[in-house]
Order: sequence, then structure tokens, then C-alpha cells
Amino acid sequence: MSKIKFYQGNNLPLEMHKVRIIQKLNLIPVDQRLKAMSEAGNNTFLLRNRDVFLDMLTDSGTNAMSDNQLAAMMQADDSYAGSETFFRLEAKLTEIFGTRFFLPAHQGRACEHIISKVFVKPGSVIPMNYHFTTTKSHITLCGGRVEEVFADEALKVKSDHPFKGNIDIDKLVDLIEKEGPENIPFVRMEAGTNLIGGQPFSLENLRQVREVCDKYGILLVLDASLLADNLYFIKKREEACKDMSIREITRAMADLCDIIYFSARKLGCVRGGGICTDSPELADKMRELVPLYEGFLTYGGMSVREMEALAVGLEETMDEDMINQGPEFIACMVKELERRGIPVVTPAGGLGCHVDAMAFVDHVPQHQYPAGALAAALYIVSGVRGMERGTLSEQRDEDGNEVFSNMELVRLALPRRVFTYSQVMYTVDRLTWLYENRKLIGGLRFVEEPKVLRFFFGRLEPVSDWQIKLVEKFKEDFGGSL
Ligand SMILES: *Cc1c(COP(=O)(O)O)cnc(C)c1O
Repeated sequence: MSKIKFYQGNNLPLEMHKVRIIQKLNLIPVDQRLKAMSEAGNNTFLLRNRDVFLDMLTDSGTNAMSDNQLAAMMQADDSYAGSETFFRLEAKLTEIFGTRFFLPAHQGRACEHIISKVFVKPGSVIPMNYHFTTTKSHITLCGGRVEEVFADEALKVKSDHPFKGNIDIDKLVDLIEKEGPENIPFVRMEAGTNLIGGQPFSLENLRQVREVCDKYGILLVLDASLLADNLYFIKKREEACKDMSIREITRAMADLCDIIYFSARKLGCVRGGGICTDSPELADKMRELVPLYEGFLTYGGMSVREMEALAVGLEETMDEDMINQGPEFIACMVKELERRGIPVVTPAGGLGCHVDAMAFVDHVPQHQYPAGALAAALYIVSGVRGMERGTLSEQRDEDGNEVFSNMELVRLALPRRVFTYSQVMYTVDRLTWLYENRKLIGGLRFVEEPKVLRFFFGRLEPVSDWQIKLVEKFKEDFGGSL
């Protein structure tokens, strides 16, 4: 039985925890926000956090830790080799995933580095439900190619499909037949597909993918970074799993995979990562790269304090009351925005709420970066920092032409257990005002455009004086400067 608690009639998500440590926030006046945004080159990555009110840039390394996690940090064993902390963490992973071997790494992309170096060769093809930025880079660096085999539903902004993160089995089989199984070292399943809105896959889909992998003798690798959200969605949305515990669902998933890796900046709410497998042969192949790139085998670049907290965080992930807060708050935010006619990706996923900038500012052409413009505008009117996930995050092609993204999204991440209901509603309120005044929002153009990762470091300016007009209207309507 689902244990989610709601206030009667109101569908208000209810936290099953209380706040015992707080951090003061700073909400600077709108004129200062305009100045800060322009000094940051209209790029939310370049804002200083002291100028940010609610930081919804990412859920990476920003999740709140529990009292038990903080307490566990005190018993960390600092030894370089043979640390007890490592054995406690390894035992927890064995208990949860049933995998005997654990290779620690400093974060998720470090796991991808190791896995790619060992398994990806020039000409390799890696099928997956959807790519993640760092995953794709590591595979490409090793000479491999990423092929996404998602169902058509995955890229629809408005949908009621419960599992938009599923692999399309027919497309997967066709791809394997075309490329030849010998060129496919592994199939990668990403839990809670990050870039398409934190959308989950079903346990049934994972089973079908496993069958295909067995038939062709291909390994199955799970990116479990966003596993907590995916577990919760399976429990809530997959009929066959509704009577299973989170622990049982986790084990059923893990038993289907050959290798599981994760970013502990998300899973377990700490900072770190690691690779798990039950195969001694696979562990052997990857093991030697850990001391070379990460650190000795019993810490892998992680602080032992974080490792202790991770063991506790993983245990807490098995508790529905601990993992429901993120998805339920996001669902509430999406529902409120939909109710007000504001375009958002549906159904609600994990990690954050994704506003559809293509529809929100449909008068801003794609070459003027509608999602970037909306993220800048939202910061100016609210102090909320979101992340552009659209054309700005793409790279130009070899001839210097823009590659238009098929979605223009502003991601408002809700780090797990961090924000309160009223902070979420404040954001909804400011988005509503912005939507009513959306015609005031104009486009952006580059003033400094780096060749690689331009979304991290690039600087832009508004194409007109639209930001000044937006601030004038804001002050008129709010009768103040906050
Ligand atoms: C964040 C993330 C990664 C990379 O993890 P880092 O700890 O940021 O290096 C890989 N895969 C997915 C799905 C992620 O969300």
C-alpha cells in the first residue's frame, strides 16, 4: 500500500521529515538582480550564489542530508587502505543490489570514464534509452557512438505515458541486427532519464531489454544516478509492482543488470560515486583503472566521511517516505503550473520541473535561445536560478551553423528534501506573472561564444532593451522591488 500522505482534498504533498538545520537565504531587489544577470552574461551558470534566492540549477550535490547521515560521518575510518568505512559501504551495496564487488569513484562521470575505457573501442555502438552529457562525451572520446532507441512518446512535451524513459524494444533489436552484436559492448539504461525531464522506465521494460541482451550476448549497464526517483515511479505507476517494497523493486532491477554505476551526488544525497557488479571477471577488468584515475580501491577519490554518509543515504533510499519528497513536490509544481495554463513537460518526472520555453515564449525565434531568455527573465523577476536545456546547450556543427534542439526547456531542479511548499509556490507565482507578461520577454545573442561547452561559460546580451521594460512592469505590478 502506498504510504503517501496528503492533506484531505487539497493534494498537498506532505514532508515526512522536519527541518533541524537551516541556511539563510538572500533575496536581493529586482534592480540588483537585473545587474547580476547582466554581469553574468545572461547565463545562469555564471551567477554568484549570494545573488540567488532559490537555487534550482541542479540536483547534483545539493540534496539535503539527514541527521543520521551527518552522524555517520563522525565514525569514518580515515585509513588509506583497508578502511572500515569502505567495507561498511560495500556491505550496504551488496545488501541492496546483491552485487559482491564495488569500485569507488569520485563522481558519476568518473565511473563512465572507467567503463568506457574498458569496454568501448573505436567503432563501438552503445544503444541507450537516452544519453547524458558526460556519458556521451566519454563514449565518443573512446571512439564509440551513442544510439538512442527511445519510444516516440519520449520527446512529446505533453504526454500521459507513465514511462517515457523506456527503450523501444523493436528499435533496439533492429539496431543490434544492423550494427552486429560484436560491435555492441553493452546496452545502457539510464534510470530517470535526466535530459528528457527525469522520466522513468518500467521494470517490465528492463526485463525485455535483458532478454534482448541475453539473446545477443550483450552486457546490460544501468546508470543508477537517478534511481531513487525511478524506483518511486515504478512503485506508483507500474501495476505489477504496486505491492512490492522499494527494496524488492531495487533488487529485481539490479538482478537484471551486469554493471550498475551511479553518481552519489544524486543517489544517496552525498558527493561521490561508484561501480557495482556481481561478476568477478567484469570487476577485474575495471579494477586497475581505479587507483590510476580515482584513488586507492578503498576510497576512489571520495572522502571517507561522504562514504559513511552514502551507506546511510542508500539505506534511506529504500524508504518510500524518504524518496517521495522530490517526485511529489515536482508533481505538485507541475500540476499548479498546468492549472494556470503554463506549458510544462508532463507527466511530472524526477529531479525537477521542466518549463516548455518553445511554447512559453513562442515569439522568440530559436536562434535567439528562447530557453536561455526565459531562464534569464525568471531570475530577474524572482531570484530563482534555473538551467537552460535547449539550443544554447547544443554545439554548432562543423560549418558553424546552429544545431536547433528538439526541445527548448528551462529546468527548475528541486534538490531532494531542500525546498518547502511555500518556496515552490513562490516560484509558481512568479512564473505565472511572467507568463502573463511573456510578450515582454525578448531573445539573447552571444557576445562571447566558447567553442566547447558554450552553455557553461558563454556570455550573452539581450537583443533589445526588453529586460529594462520587464523590470519596469514588474515594479509597477508588485509595488515594490522584491
Ligand atoms: C549527474 C549524472 C551523471 C554524472 O554524474 P556526476 O556525479 O555529475 O559526474 C551521470 N548520469 C546521470 C543520469 C546523471 O544524472
